[in-house]
Amino acid sequence: MGVRKSVAALTAVGLLASACTSPVGLPIPVPDSAKYGADGIGDPYFPRYGNGGYDVSHYDLKMRYAPDTDQLAGQVVITATATTPLRRFNLDFTGLPISRAVVNGSPAQARQEGAELVVTPANELTGAFTVEIDYAGVPKPINSILGDGGWLHTDDGAIALGQPESASSWFPVNDHPLDKATYDLAITVPEGKAALSNGVPEGSTTADGWTTWSWAERTPMAPYLTTVVIGDYRITSGSHKNLPILTAVAASMPEGGPADAAMARTGEVADFLETQFGPYPFQSYGGIAVADTRIGYALETQSRPVYGPSFFRGADSTWVVAHELAHQWFGDSVSIGGWQHIWLNEGFATYAEWLWEEHTGNRPVQSQFDEVYRTMDWSIPTGDPGPANIFSGAVYRRGSLAVHALRLEVGDDAFFTILKTWTAERRNNTAVTADFIALAERVSGRSLRPFFDAWLFRTTQPPVPNP
Ligand SMILES: [Zn+2]
Repeated sequence: MGVRKSVAALTAVGLLASACTSPVGLPIPVPDSAKYGADGIGDPYFPRYGNGGYDVSHYDLKMRYAPDTDQLAGQVVITATATTPLRRFNLDFTGLPISRAVVNGSPAQARQEGAELVVTPANELTGAFTVEIDYAGVPKPINSILGDGGWLHTDDGAIALGQPESASSWFPVNDHPLDKATYDLAITVPEGKAALSNGVPEGSTTADGWTTWSWAERTPMAPYLTTVVIGDYRITSGSHKNLPILTAVAASMPEGGPADAAMARTGEVADFLETQFGPYPFQSYGGIAVADTRIGYALETQSRPVYGPSFFRGADSTWVVAHELAHQWFGDSVSIGGWQHIWLNEGFATYAEWLWEEHTGNRPVQSQFDEVYRTMDWSIPTGDPGPANIFSGAVYRRGSLAVHALRLEVGDDAFFTILKTWTAERRNNTAVTADFIALAERVSGRSLRPFFDAWLFRTTQPPVPNP
């Protein structure tokens, strides 16, 4: 995510799983509850995000949205694999009424408990299974760290967007980056409206005054990277390096203005980043500039980032395009295994801004580093900022300082080899900070634990390496 203004602090989230122990230290028979999938995937920062006991491989999502009534009707077919025998499992979903739940072709119980949908199939699940859920109602936003997130009704349609959790406001989902999956999305809206989403555009069909827009994301995607943008948009589509490219700008924004200019440079920015980070990881390119001022940030929604209007007031906004496109490698293709590790996304995306500014002749990377280093508040550790600080300067700017310090420490050759090896070896996967440290040590042939400890985990100013 890219931010222009400071974001509201997160209300503390906390719920500890209770441990099961025997008072006399004897082994306890496995209770039936062990066959109930956990209501969280095990993220210490956000214990209720995601769910345990299964792994999703694909979401097939069909939705119809009527902007005049704000009614959303959806049908999702989830293909998953049980990682333990399951008598019951949870999905994350924030409360649209369910009209039908079917597991492996048989009716199942589905009960809403807060932000969790508790599904009890007719039979215990082992191995592969499918879940079909039909739902309809007026979707509600999710109150997240960023304020308004999830499904937002707008003047001309809707925007579904947010981090760290947002997808669960519009479809039942295992809402954590540890469970990436492929997607087919078909969104039906009144004829004349656009319905934009992630991945490869698969065209649209119109019947009886409604148009269905189809999208396919066949590279695994974390749920918070899904988006749907519905409304009146100027769409530009074509191909770039033999892949589809589709950008869109809200029709209410000035034609030929800063948003159009920035979106038009999407391919150029991606090509530059490819020289720094390795091959572009997805099957399509794009970007969406929205006009709703509640979107006070930009988000790296997979293959097609969404940009809020505040970025397009100045002449050149390509730095934010560099930030969100850098996330296609750092965050989207290589996703974090827990929200504590978000500097692996934001530190590198911020560093991409610096690389882009140098590439375009605006400012050398070293000058950015020197200024941020001088003015940094070192009190929050980048590698473990706490849930309230995952979008703080300690993650973005201090994270970028750590990236450049690594470059000074190991030299340009080893540094760019580390980045390209990371994006190649971890492609379509997840990773944590310890994985990055291990890779940097392997590529450079040096012990870097004291270095990373100083730059990521201490609360005092570290010394700048002498290259
Ligand atoms: Zn970012």
